[in-house]
Amino acid sequence: RAKAEGPGRSAVFDTSMYDRVRERIELEAALRAALAQNQLHVAYQPIVRLDTGRPLGAEALVRWHHPDRGAVSPAVFIPLAEEAGLIGAIGDWVREEAVRQLARWRAEGVVADDFSMSVNVSPRQLNDPDLPMIVSAELTRHGVPARALALEMTESVMVDGSSVTTRVLFELRELGVRLLVDDFGTGFSALGYLRRFPVTGVKIDRSFVSGLGQSIEDEEIVRAVVAMSHALGLSIVAEGVETRRQRDALAATGVTQGQGWLWGAAVPAPEFRERWHAGRPAARGGGRQLSAGP
Ligand code: C2E
Ligand code: MG
Ligand code: MG
Ligand code: MG
Repeated sequence: RAKAEGPGRSAVFDTSMYDRVRERIELEAALRAALAQNQLHVAYQPIVRLDTGRPLGAEALVRWHHPDRGAVSPAVFIPLAEEAGLIGAIGDWVREEAVRQLARWRAEGVVADDFSMSVNVSPRQLNDPDLPMIVSAELTRHGVPARALALEMTESVMVDGSSVTTRVLFELRELGVRLLVDDFGTGFSALGYLRRFPVTGVKIDRSFVSGLGQSIEDEEIVRAVVAMSHALGLSIVAEGVETRRQRDALAATGVTQGQGWLWGAAVPAPEFRERWHAGRPAARGGGRQLSAGP
C-alpha cells in the first residue's frame, strides 16, 4: 500500500511494493537468461472436431520452466516480456519452433495435410513491418504452406492497431496465413473490425464456454457468435472446453471445433505425437468418449 500523502512519504518505503519491483526485475533477468539459454519450450494442445474428437490442428503455447521457481505461467511472463521488449524474440522463437515441428509432423504423416498450427502473436510483433517477410521466408524454408499456419491475436490489435499493423495483417493474409481473433468476446462490443480486417476466424473465449449447459445467457451469446461468424464466413473454435456437457451444448449451437482439457491439455511434442498420431483419438482421457467417428 503506497503512502500517497504525508511528510513521511519517502521514508516509509512500502515493503511489499519493494518486493514486487524486485521480483519483477529478477524475473525479467531470469527470462532474458532463459531465452538465451534455450530454457523455453513449446507445448501443443489439440484443436479437434467436436463430433469425432479428431485433431484438426494444434495451438503452440510457450512454456518456461524456471530452475528454482518451477513452471512460470505465460499469463505472468508474456506481459512481462512485452514490457521488457523481449516479446519479439520470444514470439519469433516460438513461431519458428512451431513451424519446424509442423513440417516434421507433416513429413512423418503424424498430421494430415490440412492440419493447421496456431501460434499466438502479440501486438508488438504485428507492429513490425518486416513480419510478413519473415513469416514467408520461414514457411518456405520449412516447406510448409501458408494455409497451415494460423496466427492468433487479441481484439485489441485491431482496435488500437496502427497503420503498420493494418498493413502487416493484410500482407499476412495475402500470403495465405489464417488470422484468428483469440479470446473472442472479452474485449469489445464494436464488431466492425471483423469486416475491416482480413480475419478468418474467431476463438470463443473460455469464459463463455464455462457456463454452457447451465447458463442460458452464455448459450445465447455463443449462438449470436455462431450466427455472426457464419454471416461473415469466419471459422469458430470454442476454447477451454472441459466437460461433455459443454461440448454438447456447443454442438447444439452449431459450433464444430473445440479446444480444451476434455480432449487434452498442451503437451510437449513427443507426447502430442504419441497421443494424436495420424488423427488417432486419445488412448485415454477425454478423447475416448468422443470416438463417435471412424
Ligand atoms: P490463449 O492463447 O487464450 O491460450 C489458451 C489458454 O487456455 C492456455 O493457457 C491453455 O493452456 C489454456 N487452456 C486450454 N484448455 C483449457 C481448459 O480446458 N480449461 C482451462 N481452464 N484452460 C485451458 P496458457 O498456456 O497458460 O497460456 C496463457 C496465455 O498466454 C495464452 O492464452 C496466450 O494469450 C499467452 N501465450 C501463450 N503462449 C504464447 C506465445 O507463444 N506468444 C504470445 N504472445 N502469447 C502466448
Ligand atoms: Mg491463443
Ligand atoms: Mg485463447
Ligand atoms: Mg483465452
